[in-house]
This record gives sequence, C-alpha cells and structure tokens, in this order.
Amino acid sequence: MISKNFKRFIVILILISLVFAIACKDGIRAKKDVKVKNVIVLIGDGMGNQQRRIAAIVEGKGDADHRLVCESLTTSGVAFDHSLDAIVTDSAAAGTALATGYKTNNGMISMTPDGKSRTTILEACKQRGKSTGLITDVTIAHATPAVYGAHVKQRKMYSEIASQYLKNGIDFLMAGGTCDFLPKELKGKRKDKRHLINEFKKSGYTYISDLKSFNKLNPDKDKKVLGLFRYGSMDYEIDRNKAKEPSLAEMTNIAIKTLKKNPKGFFLMVEGGKIDWANHGHDVAGSVYNTIAFDKAVKVALDFAKNDKHTLIIVVNDHETGGMTITAGTNISQIRKLKATSGKMAGMIKKDGSNVDEVFGKYAGIDNLTDKERKMVIDEANGKLKVRDELGYGGTIIAHIISKRTGVLFATGGHSGTPVIVAAYGPGCQIFDGFYDQTDIPKKIGKLLGIKFPF
Ligand SMILES: [Zn+2]
Repeated sequence: MISKNFKRFIVILILISLVFAIACKDGIRAKKDVKVKNVIVLIGDGMGNQQRRIAAIVEGKGDADHRLVCESLTTSGVAFDHSLDAIVTDSAAAGTALATGYKTNNGMISMTPDGKSRTTILEACKQRGKSTGLITDVTIAHATPAVYGAHVKQRKMYSEIASQYLKNGIDFLMAGGTCDFLPKELKGKRKDKRHLINEFKKSGYTYISDLKSFNKLNPDKDKKVLGLFRYGSMDYEIDRNKAKEPSLAEMTNIAIKTLKKNPKGFFLMVEGGKIDWANHGHDVAGSVYNTIAFDKAVKVALDFAKNDKHTLIIVVNDHETGGMTITAGTNISQIRKLKATSGKMAGMIKKDGSNVDEVFGKYAGIDNLTDKERKMVIDEANGKLKVRDELGYGGTIIAHIISKRTGVLFATGGHSGTPVIVAAYGPGCQIFDGFYDQTDIPKKIGKLLGIKFPF
C-alpha cells in the first residue's frame, strides 16, 4: 500500500513539475517574444489632412465618402509638431522628433542644439541586428531620410549626410540625388573629391540608376542596394516617365522583399517628399497625385503587414505645407482634368505666348483664359513677372491660376502649424490613439519593439 501511494505521489510530483516547467518556459518566451518584428514608417512630407482629403475625393471621382488607405488604418492620433525654436517646424526638426524622440531647432538633423547626436530609432533597430532602409522621391540626402541615418547640425550638409549613410551601413537606399554622391570634377556637388557611388559598390552594395537595372534587382541575392535614379529629386507622379523611374510603391515593394530576409526583422522609412514641394509651389496636381502615389506605397506596406502579422505600420506627416484649404468652391471635375504639374506646363510656354491656350487646354482642361491671365503667363515666361518674389518659396503664375480655378486655396508659401495626423496598423498599434507630441512616436515604436527608447 505504501509503495502504491508513493508511486502516486511521484506521478503527481512529476506532473506538477511539468506544469511548472511549461509555465516558466512560457513566461520566459512571453518576455522574449516581442510581437513587433518589423517597422515601416511612411512619412507624407507636408501631407496634412486637407491634402489627404482632396486626394481621396479625386481618387474617388468626386465621392467624398471615398478614403485613402492611410485614412483607413486601425488607429489614428494627433501629434503636436512645433519645433524647439519655432511654432512652425521644418522637416529637419520635425524629422528629428520623429526619429529620435527629441525636439530640436529648425534645420538640425538628429542633433539637439547642444551639439549632441541623438540615437535614431533606425539606429536602435540596427543595433539589435535588424536590417534598415530609406526611400524617398526627393534626394536621398534630404532632411526626412537624413534624420534617420545621419547626424549633422545643418540640413544642407548633403555631402556629409550621404557619407554618413555609408559609414552607418544603411542596407537599402533608393531615391534621387546622385549630385550628393559625385565629386565636382564629375559634375556632382561634393567638394571632397570622393566618388561615393564607387565607395558604396566597394562596400558590397548593388548600385542601380535606371528602371532596367531596377527590374533586374534580385531580393535573394542583392543584400545591400543603392538606387539613385536622378541627379536631383525624382519627378512628380503626374509627370513621371514610367519607362524611366519606378513609383514610390514599386520602390517600397522591392525594399520590403530585400529587407525581410533578415530573421531579426527590419526598419524601413518611406517618404513622399514631393507632396511638400508641390504644396510649397501651390501645385494642385502635384499635391493630389503625389499623395495618391504615396498612399499606394502605404497599401504595399499594409498588404505585407496583414500577411506578416509582426509588422507595425505608422503613417504620419512631419508637418502641413501651404495651408491648403478645400473650399465650398472646390471643383473636383476641374482637378480631374489636370494632366501635368504647373511647373511642367510653365516649361512648355513659348516666349511669344503663341501656345498658352493650347497648353492650358491640353494639360489643365481650361479653355477660357482671360486676357489678364494670358498676359501674366506670357510675362512670367519672359521673366517680367516672378511669383517667387511675391509669395516666397516656389510657385508659378500657372499654379495660382489653377489653384483659383479648382477652388483649392493656399495660405502660405511655407509650412503651417497645424498638428499632424498619425495612422497606425499592427500589433499593439492602439497606443497611437489620442493626442501626444511628435517626440512620443519613436518612443511608442520602441515600446512595441520591446526596447527602451530613447536610451
Ligand atoms: Zn517643406
């Protein structure tokens, strides 16, 4: 009897031990098994709420119920975006907040005014063995990608920013901007004689510069990629030669395929930079179609995340540009007639003014220019009238005629101080709900990655 009871005791003891062991193991696993493995941050530069709405309604052929993908993610929040030294931020200070969790002065790239470099969320991910990537449709050394992969005291230090990308070993870079990679001797802008493209190649990067080589990229073989498609920024979506330059969505797709091979995951930032440029220039077609192009990149990221289930997607603007306003007079069907940016149209106007009506008819669907409007366009073509002098950064007379005709108005040639919209998708994304500061965004990303950030 004693031995039977003893046997029972031993069996129960073993069972208890097993349950205990499994519970402990699960406990350890729960700590180690962070649900978010990959992070994709998509930044619509200057893409405020109005830019999103007008793009959505145009995409929906006039249906105001139509939503962009970035207007349909799980969670949304509002983030305050003033910089340390101004109510209205620039892309450098706003980007620094988004990348490092620190506010700084306008113009500074991931550095605080005391001259300290602040670790970026991309660098924190890299330190944990993740692959990293930066994509934009402007130049790769421009402020928004720069804040994730470089530290400089002035955003215009483009050559230094490009050098730091190499030094920091960003795995995937794709954009425009060979100008910052080539020495002056080879028509680049570098004063240090360095041929950075060759240096990238020597460091094991696959370098591509056109659509043909883009289409040949092999995510299984090409571990590190540098793609630079233009000397300066890439083209506006509506003007883009589809046989020469990939879209933002196509670049996002190949980046994800390349970076996802890392079992430890990846961090990718995708910027729609030309949305900002279009709004500085009060260009309705540029803003609408670049916002739609950016949203297609969001869809690529979202489709991957839905399937992967361990990817966090954040869509945010760094600030709003132009003070764009949808008015009671906004004419969607007139916007839908636009076939080129105002900048491209301006380049087509003959100095003698003989083709003004033809250009407006063909590219803007406007066949009733007034004599005053026609004269202003001709005067601008001949350098007698400069909108830049009157309104500041960018813009053409043509842009302002189209803005008036489409009823999409602008309040400034610069940025505005309106808070930014955050949209999130992925495990734990509900923490992006509510009102907070832009500096909280990388902290929240860090939290979901299971890392303390900033350090
Ligand atoms: Zn701007």
